[in-house]
Amino acid sequence: MKRIIVVGGGAGGLELVTKLGKKLGRKGKAHITLVDRDTTHLWKPLLHEIAVGAMDEGVDAVSFRAHAYGNHFYFRVGSLIDIDREAKQIVLAPMKDEDGNEFLPSTRLDYDILVVALGSISNDFNTPGVKQHCICLDSPAQAHRFRNRMLQRFLRIQRLSEARDDDVHIAIVGAGATGVELSAELHHAMAEFHNYGFDALNNEHLKVTLVEAGERILPALPERISKAAHKELNKIGVNVLTKTAITSAEQGVLNTKDGQQIRADLMVWAAGVKVADFMKDIGGLETNRINQLVVHDTLVTTRDPAIFAIGDCAECTQPDGSRVPPRAQSAHQMATCCYKNILALLNNKPMRSYRYRDHGSLVSLAKYSTVGSLMGNLNRGSLFVEGHLARLVYISLYRLHQIAIHGVIKTGLIMFSGRINRWLRPRLKLH
Ligand SMILES: Cc1cc2nc3c(=O)[nH]c(=O)nc-3n(C[C@H](O)[C@H](O)[C@H](O)COP(=O)(O)OP(=O)(O)OC[C@H]3O[C@@H](n4cnc5c(N)ncnc54)[C@H](O)[C@@H]3O)c2cc1C
Repeated sequence: MKRIIVVGGGAGGLELVTKLGKKLGRKGKAHITLVDRDTTHLWKPLLHEIAVGAMDEGVDAVSFRAHAYGNHFYFRVGSLIDIDREAKQIVLAPMKDEDGNEFLPSTRLDYDILVVALGSISNDFNTPGVKQHCICLDSPAQAHRFRNRMLQRFLRIQRLSEARDDDVHIAIVGAGATGVELSAELHHAMAEFHNYGFDALNNEHLKVTLVEAGERILPALPERISKAAHKELNKIGVNVLTKTAITSAEQGVLNTKDGQQIRADLMVWAAGVKVADFMKDIGGLETNRINQLVVHDTLVTTRDPAIFAIGDCAECTQPDGSRVPPRAQSAHQMATCCYKNILALLNNKPMRSYRYRDHGSLVSLAKYSTVGSLMGNLNRGSLFVEGHLARLVYISLYRLHQIAIHGVIKTGLIMFSGRINRWLRPRLKLH
């Protein structure tokens, strides 16, 4: 029986392994294994909501083990560190406990077909001090770290009379979707915290500075969206600094190229992405300058027909020479194409080419607004949407992901229980 391993159960990997499990695993036609360094899945675009407490991970996270059991695949927890292409094995790191003591040695798993779907991390461009002093939003653990530090700061103002007049300064570097959405979400959360007993706090205590090196915020999106989002952020009270490049970070300070200093209690780095450094030339495969695996348009890696790569960790060039952007909709579409191509490979049929379909870009500004454009490929993003319609489409991207992993009925029930939870549970995660 063929052994198929998917490494990374994120936006793309979990959808793929679910499809493979249902199609091949159920009938015993292949042995499907998902490998992930975490034991639960959380859709990454929700991380900024976890960071401010607007979403409770305990409610939304999917247990890999339970999901594997219900969808006919196996789950192995572990971190990929190498690929031995000659032996057709992946190498997983030894596992250590919280004190750093190894409790499981490094292991190897055999594969006939391997799919690498381990996503991306924030790119600090080797800016001095960023690793030590800034928080990135790459994983739920980092989102928790941010939230705990924010809550500690809030508690100080609430409890200490000498801190009553203090402000909470938060600087976010990078005005892409993550930075913009986080800025708005913070203001929304602050208003809610006020209602939940932090009555000494209000939005005037929150000073968010959003720093962007480029000419405008949301540089990857059409100018109209950027302008609308900028206007909305100004209205909320976010201090937006464009054409401001950060050259280093220190404890509580960001230094800019033109010699200014931005002081902040909490500093978030969200300026660009790369694939983890261990992926550089992994197993002798072709990688690019941000460590993405270079793939053909069939999503097969250029140097090994048995290895596919999908999502943020893949560099896939389109016929017009453009690269598929690292986005949730790309990962979703690639998962579907990769699934079909794995079936084609197993049945000695020709594989199809992956074509990126840009269904639009939407940016959520918490409860304040949602802005974006729809159907980018059809009209070059000129159908501008705002407000409720935009919010609906924004949420539908997550719903599509949920449908891909849970099916329509279960997703409907999840939505229904979400409605009940809105009534039963507090609006913010408060612990
Ligand atoms: C805060 C935030 C907001 C975003 N908002 C949007 C948005 O609104 N719209 C949009 O289109 N995109 C958005 N994105 C981008 C989107 O989340 C990614 O493009 C998408 O998740 C990529 O999917 P993926 O499957 O490639 O990787 P991921 O979803 O990142 O999944 C990678 C998986 O691999 C696992 N993994 C990582 N390393 C290893 C290893 N060494 N061994 C084993 N497992 C490993 C991880 O645990 C994870 O489960 C956002 C990203 C962030 C951080």
